[in-house]
Order: sequence, then C-alpha cells, then structure tokens
Amino acid sequence: LDAQQKRRITILGSTGSIGTSTLDVLRQLGGRDRFDVLAVTGNGNVDLLAAQASDCGARLAVTADENRYGALKDALAGTGIAVAAGRAALLEAASGEADWVMAAIVGTAGLAPTLAAAKRGADIALANKECLVSAGDLFVQAVAEGGGRLIPVDSEHSAIFQALEDDQRHAVERIVLTASGGPFRTWSREQMAGVTAEIARAHPNWSMGLKISIGSASMFNKALEMIEAKHLFDVRPDQIEVVVHPQSIIHSMVGYVDGSVLAQLGAPDMRTAIGYALTYPQRSTLDVERLDFAKLSRLDFEAPDETRFPALRLARTALTRGGLQGAIMNAAEEVAFHAFVGGRIGFLSMADIAEQVMDKLAYLPPAASMDDVFAADEEARQVAAGLIR
Ligand code: NAD
Ligand code: MG
Repeated sequence: LDAQQKRRITILGSTGSIGTSTLDVLRQLGGRDRFDVLAVTGNGNVDLLAAQASDCGARLAVTADENRYGALKDALAGTGIAVAAGRAALLEAASGEADWVMAAIVGTAGLAPTLAAAKRGADIALANKECLVSAGDLFVQAVAEGGGRLIPVDSEHSAIFQALEDDQRHAVERIVLTASGGPFRTWSREQMAGVTAEIARAHPNWSMGLKISIGSASMFNKALEMIEAKHLFDVRPDQIEVVVHPQSIIHSMVGYVDGSVLAQLGAPDMRTAIGYALTYPQRSTLDVERLDFAKLSRLDFEAPDETRFPALRLARTALTRGGLQGAIMNAAEEVAFHAFVGGRIGFLSMADIAEQVMDKLAYLPPAASMDDVFAADEEARQVAAGLIR
C-alpha cells in the first residue's frame, strides 16, 4: 500500500454480520488514517447505518429501502455525510471510485450492485456467494473485464485461496470443503421435520446472519459453496469434496497430485478472512482469538449424509447439469428460505422445493448474458412461489 494514498473502500451490506466485522477490521488496521470509506450501504436498519457512517467517516450512506430515506437523512443531519435511498442509489454507490468493495449484501439482492462494482474495476472481496452461484462464469468474466481482483471472503474459499500455490494450480487434485454439519448434524429427518426457524438458526460455532445460519442447518450453505468453489477455482465438479468437521477449525483444504494436503486453520471468526481479503497478498496483525492446540486436543471428521441433507445432492446435480441450474437452485432456495422463516413451509420442504424447481426448469439453455441469469432467477422464483401456494 502506498503510504501517501488512502485505500478507497465501499462496503455493500455494512449493517450485516460480515459488514460489521469488516468495519471492525478497518478500525483495527488503521481506520481513517489508512482508509477512505466512500460508501456504506444497508437496508432497513438505518440507525445502525447512520452510526457506522459517522464512526468510519464515510462520505455517503445508502439505504436500499426508499421508505427509510427520511429516517436516514434525519439521523445524519449536520454530519456532512451524503444520504441516498433506493436500488438506483445503491447501484450508483456500488459503481463509485472505490479501490476495494466488500460485497456483503445477503442473497440475490447483492448480484446487481456487486456486478456494477466489478465492471467498474474495483477489487471485489466476495462474501455474497449467491453472485457466483447465480451468475457463475459470467460474474468471473465481469470481474476480469473490469480489471479488479476477485478475492474470496467465505471462510472455506479464503482457506482454499490461501492454500493454493499460484504456480501449482495444474497440480491441484481436489478441493476439500469442510462443513460444521450445523445444529442438526446428528438429527434424523423425522426430528428435523418439525423445527422452527428459531431452533434452526442457532449455529454451534459461528455467529452469522439469518439466511446463512438457516443454510448451515439445512446444508444449503455448503451446497452454494460447492458451486462457488467451482467458479472461483476453475475445478471440475468431481474435484470438489465435502467433509463434515464439527469443530470448524480447519476452514478447508487443497489436495495436490503428490498426495500432499494443505489446510488453513483458525478460530471461527470471519475477521481473519476479511482482513486477508483486504491486505492480500500481505497479512496484517489482527486482534482475533488464537488457536490453543492443547485445549483443542482433537479434530473430528465424518462423511456428509446426502439423504438427511439433500441440498448437497442438489448441488451435485446443479454442477453436473451446469448452465442456469445454479441460478435456479439459488433463487428457489431463497424463496423457500423466506417461506420457512415465515412459517409457511416446513424445514425439509426447502430442499423439496428447490429440487422440483430445478427439474421443471432444467430445459433452459445456458445463459448467454446477464439478462438470461436475471430472467431465470425470476422464473425460478415464480415456480417456487407457485409450489409453496
Ligand atoms: P446479514 O443478514 O447479517 O446482512 C445482510 C446485509 O445485506 C445487511 O447490511 C442488510 O441491510 C443488507 N440487505 C439485506 N437485504 C437487502 C436488499 N434487498 N438490498 C440491499 N441490501 C440488503 O448477512 P451476513 O450474514 O452478513 O451475510 C452476507 C453475505 O455474506 C451472504 O451472502 C452470506 O452468505 C455471506 N457470508 C456470510 C458469513 C457470515 O459469517 N455471516 C460467512 C460467509 C459468507
Ligand atoms: Mg462459508
């Protein structure tokens, strides 16, 4: 980093779990002395958004929710921080002059803004895995054409990124994604059938937003991560393995053709991956918990059960079929997730709905452009909503 010039930063989804951790990392690594925060964005929670904008000295705060414009404006009155609201304002903020953009909006709502940032040429720190699951190679291509770097933030993918030897990519045999197994790791399908969102969101190791917490319980999160890995690391579907590792200490591994396996380990704290994405290829001092191996004493591993967690099987299907199946699976799962949280369907129905929508729309040809991705996303949402009704 040039000591004279501050890094220009935008955080999409600053009020969420990843967004909040990102602001903490910026604070730890020098705050306003080193970083010029161009924009922070959120949705409904404008009080937190305003407090964050003041704390980090952001130039602009944007809420995606147009109805919250007045509240945000009031909260930031007299601070000199610019205020905007709505989807168009969010896209404009994403397309600003930032050097580094944290993509931490949850769900498909993050796709268009992240794409805008990528096209403009910012380095993209990608937490929003839904972008890659949905748009796949088109998203990777957009980043490449923009000229920025795509740096994974998802802990598993950050681990793989760290364990990948740049000049030995041809020697990669397999990628092993670790999965905690979530709160229902040892539960039967009968037990899972009746759970509420309150029960399903309680993750044993990580503190995260609602969608990814439910996705950890159903293992849909791992399903999305398998597809994310394919596009990030350009591996074949059969090179992607999942192993359940309940302690979440090994964040993932890369196996090479000589039998060597490189792993990245750490406490379950997203700030390590966020910090690495910010200062890559350098590492910076972070105040996060250090592993104490004597206290850990053991690490466990088990094979994932695709019968109890069909999401993993659906990810394989999406990878094998290719084309728009990732976008379709992602959209159907998002609709089913909202229906589950709203108490309209049971926990196990989420995978059933995703599978039915994937099958019904399997005829769609591969996307030629982003328009095709958005159209498939919309169609999958409608089919899923119809099944729920
Ligand atoms: P979260 O729910 O805590 O935060 C989501 C953010 O997106 C908030 O700032 C919210 O205001 C904003 N948002 C929500 N709906 C929006 C909309 N329609 N338009 C614009 N903004 C909107 O989520 P999170 O757990 O921080 O996850 C964010 C992303 O990072 C997800 O894609 C998730 O899969 C990924 N991720 C999260 C973690 C984690 O530890 N939380 C780990 C790995 C990957
Ligand atoms: Mg992850």
